[in-house]
Amino acid sequence: MMVLPDFRLMKPSSLSEALSALAENPAAMPVAGGTDLLVSMKQGLYNPTHLVDLKGAPELQNIEIREDGATLGACVRLSQLKNHPEIRKRYRALSQAADAVASPPLQNRGTLGGNVCLDTRCYYYNQSYFWRQSLGFCLKKDGPVCRAAPAAKRCFANFSADTVPALIALGARVRLVGAREGVLTERELPLEEFFIEDGIKRNVLLPGELVADLHLPAAQNLLSGYRKYRQRGSIDYPLVSVAIAFKMREGTIRDARVAVGAMASAPVLALETMEVLEGALPTAELAAKAADLVAKRTKPVKNQAGSPGHRRHMAQVMCRRLLEELLDAKPH
Ligand SMILES: Cc1cc2nc3c(=O)[nH]c(=O)nc-3n(C[C@H](O)[C@H](O)[C@H](O)COP(=O)(O)OP(=O)(O)OC[C@H]3O[C@@H](n4cnc5c(N)ncnc54)[C@H](O)[C@@H]3O)c2cc1C
Ligand code: SF4
Repeated sequence: MMVLPDFRLMKPSSLSEALSALAENPAAMPVAGGTDLLVSMKQGLYNPTHLVDLKGAPELQNIEIREDGATLGACVRLSQLKNHPEIRKRYRALSQAADAVASPPLQNRGTLGGNVCLDTRCYYYNQSYFWRQSLGFCLKKDGPVCRAAPAAKRCFANFSADTVPALIALGARVRLVGAREGVLTERELPLEEFFIEDGIKRNVLLPGELVADLHLPAAQNLLSGYRKYRQRGSIDYPLVSVAIAFKMREGTIRDARVAVGAMASAPVLALETMEVLEGALPTAELAAKAADLVAKRTKPVKNQAGSPGHRRHMAQVMCRRLLEELLDAKPH
């Protein structure tokens, strides 16, 4: 049986109180829905002294959809994203991705910020303490070597959050807030720059810093979608996922963005595919050619179900099917 270790739960009622709680307790961690973190704590992957519950901060709950874009607070729940009529209409990739996360009960609890800050995953890591101990642990937690790629000196655990490729394809920016020596800090960056190709560090968050919200650009004439390949259709992390967004102008594809998830420690922008799509006429041949290039950017290791070759092949299949569907669709 896996038991939750002892910790102190702090329930701040504002963002500034949450930041102070994190600054005052260096071994504290933020928690939102807890659907990822509490499982990891039971597995002995994290042992924080305090959990700072972010859900009481009204500043993190905002959903604002405007003509010039959208702002989505970190504590917005995945079910809210999935069911919001304007998000479904304007940012279809995001509502599809939220719908693809786990199962409805977990979508009711899990948040956007928790999904963006999700820990990386690996067959050798997401296991009980007993399981990992019997193998001598691994580099990401308590051990000397990477079990998936023993000759390598780094961790290749996968970043598997569903909403993130969709957000990146949609051109999202993320706003980070922190408190350093009593002074509030704030910075904003394109979401793809938030992630690091390092399975242990995984993103650029500094100690005590939080994701406050995400900003999406205007959605006029936008077409977007998300596809996920997984072992079990009912509930499972992606083995590969693809999100695509573009606009149609004068019969040609413009501002194309293609992001691939679960194939590396950070989400991947499929730059070659984007280049081929840009300014092109929408044809079935184009979809096949663009999808062929998607695997070029990724080099997964054997740390999930399915061989790396099969996952790269499925990236190509998912990309082609999604492109074919979007090239036939009408913008909202
Ligand atoms: C059975 C099961 C299946 C799942 N399947 C999927 C799946 O298919 N796809 C998928 O994407 N996820 C899946 N998940 C993981 C999880 O449910 C979702 O990713 C969810 O969105 C996590 O959000 P949360 O609010 O519960 O995060 P939490 O567990 O509260 O937090 C996750 C991490 O983010 C940090 N964090 C949370 N909010 C912030 C913030 N605002 N700023 C900084 N750090 C923050 C926490 O400290 C923690 O490290 C699954 C989980 C389970 C248990
Ligand atoms: S990729 Fe290697 S170091 Fe990272 S979690 Fe897996 S086995 Fe451990």
